[in-house]
Amino acid sequence: MKIVIIPCSFDNYSYLIICEKTGEAAVVDPAEFYPLFREIEKTGARLQTIYCTHHHADHIGGLEDLLGEFPGAAVYGHGSDQRRIPGMNHSLADGSKIRIGTVTGQVMHTPGHTSGSLCYLVEDALFTGDTLFGGGCGRLFEGSPKQMYDALNGRIKLLPGQTRVYFGHEYTLQNLKFANFVEPGNEAVARRLHQTTVQRDLGQLTTPSNLELEWQTNPFLRCAEEGIVRSVAEKFIGEAGDPLAVFTALRRLKDSF
Ligand SMILES: [Zn+2]
Repeated sequence: MKIVIIPCSFDNYSYLIICEKTGEAAVVDPAEFYPLFREIEKTGARLQTIYCTHHHADHIGGLEDLLGEFPGAAVYGHGSDQRRIPGMNHSLADGSKIRIGTVTGQVMHTPGHTSGSLCYLVEDALFTGDTLFGGGCGRLFEGSPKQMYDALNGRIKLLPGQTRVYFGHEYTLQNLKFANFVEPGNEAVARRLHQTTVQRDLGQLTTPSNLELEWQTNPFLRCAEEGIVRSVAEKFIGEAGDPLAVFTALRRLKDSF
């Protein structure tokens, strides 16, 4: 499997997954047509499938033009997004199996950012859309804090540490500034913040991350860690909360950080 990272629009990421044995390819999140089309042409890949993580316009902005070029492509999304993703012709649910040539994967329904948000686990690569970001997580537009907490901490966090995380936006630097603010004693956060600052100064991309790094540095996966619990209590809610209360406070605070 080859994964091509395709920066789109302002700070979106689309991804091209290519089965190197058969040349079959899939797009994850068709954010913008031209960057995707250029890459598909360049690689000579045969686009057969488009996987949407969710319905937001900045993630499907290139979908209709892409279908104009590749009218036979199958378009997948969560069943509940059928009417919100134009051209969607295949419904997925939690646990659905997917296949790109000989490459296989599995779908995780992870509501919170939107009600139909999906993550795609393809071999050791997890495509998280706006659910999990480098050092952060998506805003809660349609889901409850508990849904997002469960998706992140009850599902994604349990995958192996070497899982590569391909997220939907280049928000890592801003997220790590927040992480450093809420957990100033975490050396792994300080280190990653420094590295990411250098990377971004050089114009480098921070996707993919990996889950182990997220365990160590992403406050939204660290809601039971003593340092975070204490910091949130001191700074925001006045008393030590359970992990869900900590998550809820962190998410609310990040919205205005
Ligand atoms: Zn979104």
